[in-house]
This record gives sequence, structure tokens and C-alpha cells, in this order.
Amino acid sequence: MRTVVVIGGGASGLFAAIGAAEKGNKVYLFEKNEKLGKKIYITGKERCNLTNNTDIQEFLKNVVRNPKFLYTSMNVLSVEKTLSFFKTNGLPVKTERGNRVFPVSDKASDITKTLEKICVKNGVNIFLNKKVIDIIVKDGVVKGIKTKEGLFQCDSVIVCTGGISYSKTGSDGDGYKFAEKTGHTVIPLKPALCGIEIKENFCSKLQGLSLKNVVLSAHYKGKTVFSEFGEMLFTHYGISGPIVLSCSSMINRSEISKITLLLDLKPALSNEILDKRFIRDFSDGRLKSVSTILISALPKSLIPIILEISGIPSWKKCSEITSCERKNLVYTIKNLKMNIKNLRPIEEAIITSGGVDVKQINPKTMESKIVKGLFFAGEVVDIDSYTGGFNLQTAFSTGYLAGLNS
Ligand SMILES: Cc1cc2nc3c(=O)[nH]c(=O)nc-3n(C[C@H](O)[C@H](O)[C@H](O)COP(=O)(O)OP(=O)(O)OC[C@H]3O[C@@H](n4cnc5c(N)ncnc54)[C@H](O)[C@@H]3O)c2cc1C
Repeated sequence: MRTVVVIGGGASGLFAAIGAAEKGNKVYLFEKNEKLGKKIYITGKERCNLTNNTDIQEFLKNVVRNPKFLYTSMNVLSVEKTLSFFKTNGLPVKTERGNRVFPVSDKASDITKTLEKICVKNGVNIFLNKKVIDIIVKDGVVKGIKTKEGLFQCDSVIVCTGGISYSKTGSDGDGYKFAEKTGHTVIPLKPALCGIEIKENFCSKLQGLSLKNVVLSAHYKGKTVFSEFGEMLFTHYGISGPIVLSCSSMINRSEISKITLLLDLKPALSNEILDKRFIRDFSDGRLKSVSTILISALPKSLIPIILEISGIPSWKKCSEITSCERKNLVYTIKNLKMNIKNLRPIEEAIITSGGVDVKQINPKTMESKIVKGLFFAGEVVDIDSYTGGFNLQTAFSTGYLAGLNS
């Protein structure tokens, strides 16, 4: 019987402990907090979007970094198996819009409770308020871990310490230190799934305005590096909302200050069709001001901003708008330009992008290629995905695979 230590009682750590216990190991789970799964409690607005009910091909399209690395783990603990795991362990789940899966109870705490219950049932020894401060390695082999109470010998260690975002939940970057100290490369950490700070001050004027059915695209050195249709909103610092979060994940490893964002407020209409619509609207409302006529086309708070950028005085009558002004208006509506100041701080990001280099981890076992008996799973690894339940599923699957092989 091997002795396995799991560091971190979050999404990946709980599944790692379950996997390791299923294999008949003696399992010790060390969690620095007073309770397990603190981050799980705040996921999915406290409802926990635990996975995405889709096939593996579609699933991996939503993994931004290193999707191929996940083939084995996503086969060993697939979405299907995850769903049946929770159902057979007394937690019914439901699938909502966008294939997002939630517990029927709509309580994230039920996920943690279920995982804890299975750990206890499988004989996992859970130590709360126990921060691991070091991993002991000798001649390239794991020998144990260290807490402030002393050394703890073991045959395997699974590092499930999460990222560095929302550090109050316990994930404050210890895993990266362990990885570096044991000879691993940590790919630079970046905020992902976060808001974007914009240089133009019109965003703060629009604070609170949310937009549906728009396209946000990101452009770097003449290339379109991101483009997505959906919802977003303006905030005091710039922009946020679903398509902005996805955009942040795609651009966070580029030269942020050189990226231009373009917002198409009318993606369903071509420039020509929008122009024809304005010709008709302006002719019907000849004596009205352009800002009055635009109310049928744009949210009210956007109108003065769009007109200012287009160089059209808002009091101007429709009959006085020149064709050049009209073309400028169409162009601005289809290409509202925003320059990026920065991404929001990593502490606020839903996910930490970067982490232990996947080249140094065996994807079939999650074991380090550098230190025998050392495993990494979950957000500490350089894998990150879009929203929709993909990040938790990845943590579950990589954790479980590491546990089975520890
Ligand atoms: C607000 C928010 C909402 C989210 N919503 C969703 C969602 O709905 N769906 C989804 O798929 N993803 C969501 N995510 C992302 C998801 O929560 C994470 O990707 C996932 O929790 C990562 O799991 P993990 O086990 O790697 O890390 P964590 O869940 O962060 O767990 C790490 C654990 O390790 C412990 N730990 C750290 N260092 C030590 C140490 N030295 N000793 C002992 N213990 C230690 C920590 O206390 C923590 O409990 C959300 C994230 C946030 C911030």
C-alpha cells in the first residue's frame, strides 16, 4: 500500500484523493483552510457550473491552452462519467443553456459536500488548517512534505493548489513555488476570464450598459486574433461580460498595449444595408435631429458617443447629414474602436492562465517527468478554458487521473 499526499482540497484535490483511494492507497489530504473547496462555493454564482454537457471534441475547442494535453484525463473521467458520478452519489444535476451543468439544488455547496462525503467513505484522511510549506525530494524522487508541525513521509505527492486568483479562497500560488523549487518551469502567470481596461473614457460614461448580439474582435499587427458574437457590458474601467472574458483569455499572452478592439454593434447588417436603412430613416425624419432618429437603432446612452466619434453634431437635422457623415456613422457603429490599457488584475480573474509547463508532465498519468512520485493537477497546470464548466471539469479529470496513477 502506497502513502499518497494530496496538497489542496479544492476541485482537483478532492478528485485526486478519490482516485488515489480507489486504487487502495493510504491517502492524506492537506488543506490550509478551515474547510474544503472554498473556491467551489463561489463558482457559477454559488450554483456551481460543474461541467459542460458536450462531447470531447467540442469540449476541447473551449480549452484555450493545451487542449491536446487533456485527451487521457478527459477520457478517464469524461463529462459523461462525471455526470453519472454525481448522480450515483446522490446529487442530481441538470443541463441549462449552453450545455452548462448545475446541481438541481442550485447550491455549489452540494458539490463540495458530495465530494467530501465520498472522500470520507473511501477512507481519505482529511487534515484541515494544514498548510504544506515544502515538498521533500531526494535524488529525483518524492520523499514527503513539510508542514509547520514537521515532516510527513509519503510515496507520492499530488499538487492541487490551484492558481493565484481569488486568493482569499486559499489559492495563493504555493503550487508554483513547489513546482519551481523542484525544478519545473512555470509558464508566466496571466489573468484570464477577466475584464479589460480601456483607454477611451467613453466606457466609463456608459457604465452599466449591457449589449446583446454584438461582435467583439481583437486585432494585433493586422491580424484578427479573436472574434466572438454575444453579450458584453461597459464598466467603470472599460468592458466585461461573456465575450470580453473569452477575449481576455485569448489575448493575455500578447502585447496587450498593441491590441485594438473593435465592436460591431450591428453584426447582422452589412455596411451597405445599414447605410440604406439610415438613408430611409433620415428621409422619413428629415426635420428631426439625428440623435432622435438613432433611438430606434442604438441604446440611448450610446448615441452621443457614436455621433461624437463620427464627427456629427447631435443637434444636426437628418436632412442636413451629408453622405460622408452618414458613411462615418455606419463605419463607427460597425467598428467602435477601443484601445486596451490593461487586463484587470490577476486577483480578480476567474482563472489564472499559465502554470506548470505541460511539457514536464506526463499527460497519461499527470506525473512530473522531472521528479518521480510528484504529480500536478488542476489550475496549477498551464491549462485554462472558457467559461461554461470547462475549468472545473478539467480540474476534476486531471485530479482523478493523478490520483489513479499515484
Ligand atoms: C468567481 C469564480 C467563479 C468560477 N465559476 C466557475 C464555474 O462555474 N465553472 C467552472 O468550471 N469553473 C469556475 N471557476 C474556476 C474554478 O473554480 C477553478 O478552475 C477550480 O476551482 C480550480 O480547481 P483547483 O483544484 O485547481 O484549485 P482550487 O479550487 O483553487 O483549490 C486549491 C486548494 O488548494 C489549497 N491550498 C493552496 N495552497 C495550499 C498549501 N500550501 N497547503 C494546503 N492547501 C493549499 C487552497 O486552500 C484550495 O482549497 C470559477 C472561479 C472563480 C474565481
